[in-house]
Amino acid sequence: MQSSPLHIVIVGGGSAGWMCAAACAQQLHPQRYRLTLIESDDIGTVGVGEATLPALRDFNDMLGLDEAQFMRETQGTFKLGIEFRGWDRPGQSYLHPFGAFGQLWGGVEFQHHWMRARTQGLNPPPFEEFSCAVRACDRNAFEFPDSEARSTVYSYAYHFDAGLYADFLRRWSMARGAKRIEGQVMDVEQHGDCGHITGLTLKSGQRIEGDFFVDCSGFRSILLGEKLQVPWEDWTRWLPCDRAWAVPCDRSRDFTPFTRSIAQKGGWIWRIPLQHRTGNGHVFSSHFVSEDEARATLLAQLDGHAQGEPRLLKFRAGRRAQAWKGNCVAMGLASGFLEPLESTSIFLIQKAIQDMMRMLPTPERPRADDRLAREFNRLSDELYERIRDFLILHYTANRREGEPLWDHVRHYELPPSLRHKLALFDARGHVPYFKDGFFSRDSWLAVLFGQGLMPRHHDCLADFMPLAQLDGRLRELHASVATHVASMPTHEQVIARYCHPLPRQAVS
Ligand SMILES: Cc1cc2nc3c(=O)[nH]c(=O)nc-3n(C[C@H](O)[C@H](O)[C@H](O)COP(=O)(O)OP(=O)(O)OC[C@H]3O[C@@H](n4cnc5c(N)ncnc54)[C@H](O)[C@@H]3O)c2cc1C
Repeated sequence: MQSSPLHIVIVGGGSAGWMCAAACAQQLHPQRYRLTLIESDDIGTVGVGEATLPALRDFNDMLGLDEAQFMRETQGTFKLGIEFRGWDRPGQSYLHPFGAFGQLWGGVEFQHHWMRARTQGLNPPPFEEFSCAVRACDRNAFEFPDSEARSTVYSYAYHFDAGLYADFLRRWSMARGAKRIEGQVMDVEQHGDCGHITGLTLKSGQRIEGDFFVDCSGFRSILLGEKLQVPWEDWTRWLPCDRAWAVPCDRSRDFTPFTRSIAQKGGWIWRIPLQHRTGNGHVFSSHFVSEDEARATLLAQLDGHAQGEPRLLKFRAGRRAQAWKGNCVAMGLASGFLEPLESTSIFLIQKAIQDMMRMLPTPERPRADDRLAREFNRLSDELYERIRDFLILHYTANRREGEPLWDHVRHYELPPSLRHKLALFDARGHVPYFKDGFFSRDSWLAVLFGQGLMPRHHDCLADFMPLAQLDGRLRELHASVATHVASMPTHEQVIARYCHPLPRQAVS
């Protein structure tokens, strides 16, 4: 029996809305699913969100996007990691790379071999010098990873203009059948018995009925939050930053293949290089610094001429208690927000889209299945909590004595899940390992060591290797990483060659 297509209605046309529309337009059969996106020009989008994680490459691959075209359209650059300046204490810095530190030897993780070498007086090179991505960042170099090279495993993500990305996906989705309606949702109708959403009424009076609704309406969360009354879980007790000033400036000559995050008295400043400009912002806690002071701090640290007036954004760290309720799922800012310290928001959107598509109702069974909704919520909760713990680690393990924000975060009570992770690391140098999702073992190591933490003991399984052999292998690996990086072109050269190739007839 032929059923009519299931109608998915997406409210919101920011990055979340258009990423969702693009994925559905690509993956769902057009005779089985119909897609409508409603966005309001009067309300607009947040429009920041310039740094991403490597997983975005999988999303773009799923859509079948050409990478060079995507980079051109979004003024993108490559990102090998994030540099944290002054997070442990002023004057100190470290890099969180997208890639491995060292290698697994004899089935034992690299940090144990390195710690053993340290305690046994072999005086090994610094831990981060065993990462190809870190050393490439030191030289502002970039090269596409070679999946065959065992000693130099790394990955990369992008910096891009989030507004241009949403425009690009809008054109892309509409060309593949997504319908766009410009208008403001004023009223949401629910089924009298089950409470499922049945339709939306726009300011113009137009009524849109649907089977399944995706709330991408930003911080207001007009479907899940306002209408379905799913409460907000507040996490500001751990992540106290609640404001950001954002302003782009002219591009500087320091064209880094990494995001820079610079700790400040009341928060931190981001610096993100794009092809046409540099994105800057100051994320801060209004309890510890005033809006005026934070604005002045940001402007004083720009390394190019400001392109316009800084824009103030207000937010709260936290998430909705359920991201999926009835026949409505929220994603993007409508489902939660963790400050952009590790560029996780766009990844959370991507993950929500992928999980949602696996659990969508079908035209034959159009009623959303509560069991699948529960699984979606479980996966979402787990991911949010892991990311939350990872972000808290950056704050709490600091030695910025005498600064009120930093003293506060050093002494507050941690979530039990993070306390457990820190205890394991302290006792044995063990770090979390998740088969799915973020953050990887190497990411935890980068931040734990970077913030100055050092375990009491290494894993005794590392003791199998004779010390002379360990010394030799460490030096050999260190040299091979250096040799590999020395041959890399600069980030700027790669962008010029890859994104702006000479016209065909001019190529000799
Ligand atoms: C300071 C800051 C920095 C950030 N940096 C990063 C970063 O580096 N990396 C990263 O991954 N993420 C970052 N993010 C997060 C990122 O900006 C968002 O996750 C992303 O833009 C998605 O936003 P959204 O689409 O959920 O919401 P929005 O961009 O707010 O879009 C909401 C949409 O809903 C529509 N809408 C709202 N109400 C109605 C209504 N009643 N009727 C019709 N339409 C309506 C609006 O018109 C708009 O189209 C940052 C966020 C902030 C605040």
